[in-house]
Amino acid sequence: MPTFDHRVANFCAGPASMPNAVIERAQAELSNWHGSGMSVMEMSHRSGAFIEIARHAEASLRQLMGIPENYRVLFLQGGGSMQFSAVPLNLLHGQADYLDTGIWSAKALKEAQRYAAAGLGNINIVASGKANGYTRVPDRTEWQLSDNASYFHYCPNETINGVALYGVPDVPSDVPLVADMSSCILSEPIEVSRFGVIYAGAQKNIGPSGLTLVIVREDLLGRAHAVCPSVVNYEQQAANNSMLNTPPTFAWYLAGLVFDWLLEQGGVEVIYQQNLQKARTLYDFIDSSDFYHNGVDKDNRSIMNIPFTLADSELDKAFLQAADAAGFLNLKGHRTVGGMRASIYNAIDLPTVQRLVEFMARFAQQHSK
Ligand SMILES: *Cc1c(COP(=O)(O)O)cnc(C)c1O
Repeated sequence: MPTFDHRVANFCAGPASMPNAVIERAQAELSNWHGSGMSVMEMSHRSGAFIEIARHAEASLRQLMGIPENYRVLFLQGGGSMQFSAVPLNLLHGQADYLDTGIWSAKALKEAQRYAAAGLGNINIVASGKANGYTRVPDRTEWQLSDNASYFHYCPNETINGVALYGVPDVPSDVPLVADMSSCILSEPIEVSRFGVIYAGAQKNIGPSGLTLVIVREDLLGRAHAVCPSVVNYEQQAANNSMLNTPPTFAWYLAGLVFDWLLEQGGVEVIYQQNLQKARTLYDFIDSSDFYHNGVDKDNRSIMNIPFTLADSELDKAFLQAADAAGFLNLKGHRTVGGMRASIYNAIDLPTVQRLVEFMARFAQQHSK
């Protein structure tokens, strides 16, 4: 068996680092899954073996998140971005409310507006953080909710801006909450029963790209517009156990391995405590330094994606080069916001964050005037 000493600390926002134990297990099972004589990659999605893999992954996810019986879990393709269209196509009737807290919620909004323009309904922007440079979630007192919204869409963790909305948004209880949890699913315990739809691309905090999870409350099935493509129609996918067409089988299997790994770690509450400690370690260091800066409101700081800038941006290039050389990869911030960003999803452990902080301290010392 190979060892994994050669693996770098990968702070990429997505596709992101996966647990070593999962990579090793996938490798061990790669050519002959459980004596089947074939790789999961080669299996029919209709075979007994794959159906077992698929069911097991769903059962593990249900256990991890405490998903109630009246919710369906869909394993789809198309990424988080496909859900920007799927949500209005399945649910937009009359008004829908959108909260704009960053680049991803703005993208979701833009797609929804396309369907509004085509006559499917109206989109109301509840509030936007754009004017403040997406450094905080607009205060609840600033929100302009519509009457009888068919749903309220928001993004609890803005991956690019590092802005998070904690707790469940305060909207009327009969308005289904639709949450893009692409970069925060499984990072902290949530009460699924408070949501109508939760969706997440897998490549941030779950597994490889190509898989998108949708957790949808059963009473929201069957509301799709006639023009909604079958593959993104929640009711049809639910009726076909996410196998209306060929699902992303290998990514589904790998997600199942990650779910099992999370259960072995003690579940979401245990990983959440580690995530808090990791985030605190990095933010405390950044806040204590004149060399590094994070401009997000303290109440809205993401525990998964931590953007930061150097006081002297002339040093950005040198910082990234030194980080690469030290085995800390993908710290460059998103092209739209610049600076740096450390994505510290579940697979990044506390010692790795501590080593990053030591590196950052060393770099600051060497480059302070
Ligand atoms: C990455 C991301 C997306 C887009 O995901 P794709 O799978 O690339 O479509 C959407 N929303 C959030 C919050 C993300 O982090």
